[in-house]
Amino acid sequence: MLDLTPKEISERTALKINPCKTCQPVGALYAALGVHACMPHSHGSQGCASYHRTFLSRHFKEPAIASTSSFTEGASVFGGGSNIRTGVRNVFEIYNPDIIAVHTTCLSETIGDDMNAYIQDMEIPDGKLVVHTNTPSYVGSHINGYYNMMSGFINYLSKKSGQGNGKAAVFPGFVNPGDMREIRRMAKLMNTPITLFPDTAGVMDAPMTGHYVMYPKGGTTIEEIVGLGDCKKTIALGALTSEAPAITLERKCGVPYEVIPLPIGIESTDLFLMALQKAFSRDIPYELEEERGQLVDVILDAHFYLYGKRVAIFGDPDTVIGLTNLVLEMGMIPSYVLTGTPGDGFAKAVNKLLGAYDVTGSRVKNAGDLFELHQWIMNEPVDLLIGTSYGKQIAKAEDIPFVRAGFPILDRYAHSYFPIVGYKGALRLVEKITEALMDRQDRDAADEDVELVM
Ligand code: SF4
Repeated sequence: MLDLTPKEISERTALKINPCKTCQPVGALYAALGVHACMPHSHGSQGCASYHRTFLSRHFKEPAIASTSSFTEGASVFGGGSNIRTGVRNVFEIYNPDIIAVHTTCLSETIGDDMNAYIQDMEIPDGKLVVHTNTPSYVGSHINGYYNMMSGFINYLSKKSGQGNGKAAVFPGFVNPGDMREIRRMAKLMNTPITLFPDTAGVMDAPMTGHYVMYPKGGTTIEEIVGLGDCKKTIALGALTSEAPAITLERKCGVPYEVIPLPIGIESTDLFLMALQKAFSRDIPYELEEERGQLVDVILDAHFYLYGKRVAIFGDPDTVIGLTNLVLEMGMIPSYVLTGTPGDGFAKAVNKLLGAYDVTGSRVKNAGDLFELHQWIMNEPVDLLIGTSYGKQIAKAEDIPFVRAGFPILDRYAHSYFPIVGYKGALRLVEKITEALMDRQDRDAADEDVELVM
């Protein structure tokens, strides 16, 4: 580990060390997997598609299907038109999806492939569809790719028929299938009809049946995406992930939208339920009130271990904002809050939360990296680290408790089946955080016992 001064760290602008993000197509591929019977297609070289699929498979422990235009030197010089035409024909013939969702890569963006023109010119079998989005990976992160792909589907498919369908479109943000199930469960308890888009539940957490199914039962259907244009309103969960596609839908079909934070923690979950309540004039059912009360009870029970503890949080912007809100509700101090995804909205949202709890002196950064976070922690330690698997080396080096949350988690199993959203999700996080801090306390106490005996 290089020992740089804060000034030297802040002066480093052109280089990222341990970036806290991955490339746009990973997000585009994940969004496309949340559409039923969809084949994500990577317009670039095979290496890109292999990396994106592997990355998602390692997090979800499920096959992440995708096809590729398989660029070689010829495509790099003459453009990838013939590759995508052949690729789309082969994919429909061999794998028979209902829809192919094409995203671009660094190479195809650099050579300037005109995807609109390619798709308009290609032969698409009757009843099948091809959509696309541009995902140049040298800007943004997988979060940009995720919402760009959502906007791609909306731009191609969503229509306003003039006959409202009485539903709310809910854009869940970049979350796990377990979170998507929890969002649907809460909406069902509220007796509110929603279209969740995208929806990877039933795709990236499909059951083992003994038979491989290329297109599992889950995913938002094409009809539902078309019907987004007839929804009463859009509830966009997480401004930095879901607002952009909500704007696309409003511009195309006139569907009004409301942006609220990703429902991680008490207040953010309250806001989600109130948004549904407002749209459909429904009462909050006792079951959800009970879950909220249980969560508050557990936080109060555990506050001896939580109060005043310094925490470092990193990961995707809306997830980190949600986790920051939760740890503030738990009486902890988010000392370092960092995302790798660019965008000024992140720091504004986090600073607003810190201000609401009179927390001062925290470091907040977007487009940061884990090298910088590690330096901050070395200079002034924290009691707990919360973030993706890439934090484990920092936790090990600095000997601090570590709670895995967010994307990616590559070195644990089953995490994507359990929500971190909603009161139930917050309860699970409170359990994990408290246990991590108690384990440390128990270990320290055991060390003291050994010293006494000796
Ligand atoms: S070349 Fe670009 S699109 Fe491909 S894996 Fe690398 S960053 Fe991602």
